[in-house]
Amino acid sequence: MTSHSTATNMALAIHGGAGTIRPQDMTAEAEAAYTGGLRHALETGWHVLRSGGAAVDAVEQTVRALEDNPLFNAGRGAVFTSQATHEMDAAIMSGKDLRAGCVAAVGGIKNPITLARRVMDDGTHVLLCGAGAEEFARESGIEFAPPEYFYDDFRHRQLLDARRDDAVRLDHASGTAADKKFGTVGAVACDRGGNLAAATSTGGMTNKRFGRIGDTPLIGAGTYANETCAVSCTGHGEFFIRAVAAYDVACLMKYRGLDLHEACEQTVNQTLREMGGEGGLIAVDRAGNIALPFNSEGMYRASVSEKQEAVVKIYRES
Ligand code: ASP
Repeated sequence: MTSHSTATNMALAIHGGAGTIRPQDMTAEAEAAYTGGLRHALETGWHVLRSGGAAVDAVEQTVRALEDNPLFNAGRGAVFTSQATHEMDAAIMSGKDLRAGCVAAVGGIKNPITLARRVMDDGTHVLLCGAGAEEFARESGIEFAPPEYFYDDFRHRQLLDARRDDAVRLDHASGTAADKKFGTVGAVACDRGGNLAAATSTGGMTNKRFGRIGDTPLIGAGTYANETCAVSCTGHGEFFIRAVAAYDVACLMKYRGLDLHEACEQTVNQTLREMGGEGGLIAVDRAGNIALPFNSEGMYRASVSEKQEAVVKIYRES
């Protein structure tokens, strides 16, 4: 998986959230369901790339597949705010031309990543939030879903637990060991032309104050792509915002000359770790190298490239 060649290789990496994910907390069925969901999303994006599709299309399609899967904290499986509503954040960025589209605190949108893509393609603005983003969605013919679509008993229990404890919780850190669910989702890709793209989508944190916006839709914090690398983050958003984590990886490569793995290690296992920022990220560079670092106990992740068979992993490897 580690290579530093300069020739372009198509590559795709995805995450489904990082956090306290341990084998002892998982049933075989749950493990199979997560693995299957990740594999399906990876295959979706890989098919786009292998058919000659653009990196930006591959990451959008991959994230849509994860948003449609109720296991992950994005789209259908988004967690509840303190008001028992859903406010979702998403961003997409195309590295070769630095185009970006982001939406924050949107409700009722079936696939927030596609709304972010529409913002990017429209090109007038980069980040739309709340009612304004929803109106733009209506005008653009974006698909909405009724509240029942997003309702999930498990998520609702998470909210009641967090309220009882008066806590705002990362999806990764909540619930009892037996019923944990994890899940902000993201994808990064390098296409046949060496173009890079990143996409991230989330419901944020359980019992978050309504109006709270995390790192996911903030370009440079949770999502970033340029000609050097594409990065999608997951973890405690407030730390990723203050570390400008995704852009930090790009800067370490561009200005310090670090390779992808060195840059990712520094951001995740030094800068974020020292701040107390739990989480991880996925990244690709234009040679198709892939890095999937995290400083938490686990991260739902999968990757594939022209030089590496598809791999799906959940736990830390020691
Ligand atoms: N980073 C996301 C947020 O803070 C949460 C996550 O990655 O699960 O909104």
